[in-house]
Amino acid sequence: MRTVTRRNLWRSLGRGALLRCPRCGGRGIIRGWFSMQRRCPTCQLVLNRGESSDYWLGAYTINFVVAEFVAVLLIVVLILFTLPDIPWTVVQYAAIVAAVAMPILFFPFSRTLWLALDLWARPAERGDRARRSHLN
Ligand SMILES: [Zn+2]
Repeated sequence: MRTVTRRNLWRSLGRGALLRCPRCGGRGIIRGWFSMQRRCPTCQLVLNRGESSDYWLGAYTINFVVAEFVAVLLIVVLILFTLPDIPWTVVQYAAIVAAVAMPILFFPFSRTLWLALDLWARPAERGDRARRSHLN
């Protein structure tokens, strides 16, 4: 069984950034924008690897930090490009739209990236599929 080692963490993160299985690179692990398959269709890795229902908490944290950072970055760029006459009303509405839209746009990526990090921290072991399958 293939594992995600420290050496190939970047490859796994790259696969996650493309919404592919971080372990095998297979497609089709995303069922919809807000849901994932139970297993990778290619390598059969159980995607919810948690022992409890809060497995995706790390993904939500990644989503919050990255998406809101990008939202702030976009607003800063908007302000810098409109100097010295900053349209504050436009900035205000753009900030609201960015703060709401970015976490939605980044949602599936946060899950696949979290899965890549989790596989790095806790590599899939022999019997991982069978042991975790009853949880899903
Ligand atoms: Zn896979």
